[in-house]
Amino acid sequence: MQSVKRKYSIFSMAKNAFNGHKDWPKMWRSPEPREFYDAIIIGGGGHGLGTAYYLAKEHGLKNIAVIEKGWLGGGNTGRNTTIIRSNYLWDDSAHLYEHSLKLWENLSSDLNYNVMFSQRGVMNLAHNEHDIKEIKRRISANNLNGIDSLWLSKEEIQKKVPIMNTDNLRYPVLGASYQPRGGTARHDAIAWGFAMRADEMGVDIIQNCEALQIKTKNGKIEGVETSKGFIRANKVGVVASGHSSVLAETAGIRLPLQSKPLQALVSEPIKPIIDTVVMSSAVHAYVSQSDKGELVIGAGTDSYNSFTQRGGFDIIEETIRAMVELYPVFGKMKMLRQWGGIVDICPDASPIISKSDIEGLFFNCGWGTGGFKATPGSANVFAHTIAKNEPHQINAAFSLERFVSGKLVDEHGAAAVAH
Ligand SMILES: Cc1cc2nc3c(=O)[nH]c(=O)nc-3n(C[C@H](O)[C@H](O)[C@H](O)COP(=O)(O)OP(=O)(O)OC[C@H]3O[C@@H](n4cnc5c(N)ncnc54)[C@H](O)[C@@H]3O)c2cc1C
Repeated sequence: MQSVKRKYSIFSMAKNAFNGHKDWPKMWRSPEPREFYDAIIIGGGGHGLGTAYYLAKEHGLKNIAVIEKGWLGGGNTGRNTTIIRSNYLWDDSAHLYEHSLKLWENLSSDLNYNVMFSQRGVMNLAHNEHDIKEIKRRISANNLNGIDSLWLSKEEIQKKVPIMNTDNLRYPVLGASYQPRGGTARHDAIAWGFAMRADEMGVDIIQNCEALQIKTKNGKIEGVETSKGFIRANKVGVVASGHSSVLAETAGIRLPLQSKPLQALVSEPIKPIIDTVVMSSAVHAYVSQSDKGELVIGAGTDSYNSFTQRGGFDIIEETIRAMVELYPVFGKMKMLRQWGGIVDICPDASPIISKSDIEGLFFNCGWGTGGFKATPGSANVFAHTIAKNEPHQINAAFSLERFVSGKLVDEHGAAAVAH
């Protein structure tokens, strides 16, 4: 099947509404793998699909495959709480996440597909003196990097979120940082938007195709052994989040990553009650309200490594306790669904976007609990790294080399979930 340019305009919506939406073309083809690709991307999440999109769009590479062991966006891209912000502490991180935030701001129009990016602001609560100092330091660092970030007093928080209990709780709310340009987006849409536009440029998107082994010879990449046979390639990018370290091992590389379940849950839908995003890493609970009206609630990671996409009940119990303390009005609500995703965490809570010692083998992983916000930015600079065989200046600090040199980018304070 040839790829078709799909347009979403008011006219095409109206035209298709008349015939019961039966004539929409498929969003992407389902080709069988070719014998050889210039580049194979392992992992059909937002970062992997975005990498293929930018490789084709900005670097002219067309003979590309994205191989995905399940379905597109079925990993953490489809499992996260979609919080987007760029208020990280260190310059290197601030530039990376801000690059991404700027791409988010224009993504719906770039893809001609609505990723439902909603800049409703993101608040990070301070519950003690240490939080206040740490958060104010971060606000100041953000402002020096030109990033919108401001301090809210308790009274200002109460005005924005009147349902919040600020005083009568174990960890009182003393203030917060606030990034007005932060917000949320639709998780599936980013995967589908990138997939559709990459497919149109000739990228083969191959679902139900598991990478089993990365094959190398004399320090160079040969290709990937997959559940659909061996595929040769000049370059391979591993973007498999929680399973990146497992794949790296098949090429004889030990990545400094720990994989843990991170959980989230949603409530029954209710009328609009909270129009911003509120996060608290001290009590491990964060919340926003989806367009359907569900409260989207994020919890913490399990304290041990695991690949079960579920997570421990004690974590959920702790999160619900914190939520009900912070928002007593939620006390009688019913929860609809709970799930987990496997996040891959680096010792410094920063990602790896890097070449490796094997020629033609690249890694984009270690996003831990906070990589959704980085999706377009990460994909954009990773595509550059793969195409040019050298990092973009924005991801130079996030190489594997930093674990040898010790030049770590410690972002534990800015990470959504303490780990
Ligand atoms: C509960 C939860 C809440 C979160 N909340 C937020 C948040 O609010 N904000 C934020 O910024 N981040 C958040 N994150 C983190 C964020 O989801 C991830 O960092 C980001 O989505 C990673 O995207 P990705 O494309 O790299 O990975 P994924 O979407 O996981 O894609 C990797 C893909 O690789 C595939 N794969 C794995 N192994 C193989 C193989 N051997 N062969 C082929 N394919 C393979 C997987 O099936 C998967 O589809 C959250 C994560 C979780 C789990």
